[in-house]
Amino acid sequence: MRPYKLKKHRSARAIVREWYKHFNGRYPPSESTAVDSHPLDGKVRAIPLKEMISSIKEQGCWAFVSIPTKGKRPSELHYWHDGKVCDHVLMEMFGHELGHLAGKNLKVLKREEERAHSYGAAAVEAFSIVEKIRGRKSCG
Ligand SMILES: [Zn+2]
Repeated sequence: MRPYKLKKHRSARAIVREWYKHFNGRYPPSESTAVDSHPLDGKVRAIPLKEMISSIKEQGCWAFVSIPTKGKRPSELHYWHDGKVCDHVLMEMFGHELGHLAGKNLKVLKREEERAHSYGAAAVEAFSIVEKIRGRKSCG
């Protein structure tokens, strides 16, 4: 797995701003700016920033990784959660993002998202096994 730095954000808005800056090179001029998003289904679509932030708030967490294409800077795993979100959802989210940092990234975005998704699913499954062994459920 690539080395990475973990970066926590204080709000859904803050992480979306950081994400936007990473992939578009600057802050969005206003909340109505349309951006490309890739939800867990791997589909890419343009949605208003305001809509993106509210769907992230509804989900209770969000994350992204930035992987430098040149130089020796470490990758960064950015995340935000509302403190109430279920551990399973966090496991899936971090498993997915760590999947992007593990192995070889695929050039086609949809395929790469599917690859990362399998890491998220494995993380949730592993967590469920641990809960079963320990005889406790953290949520759900
Ligand atoms: Zn992803």
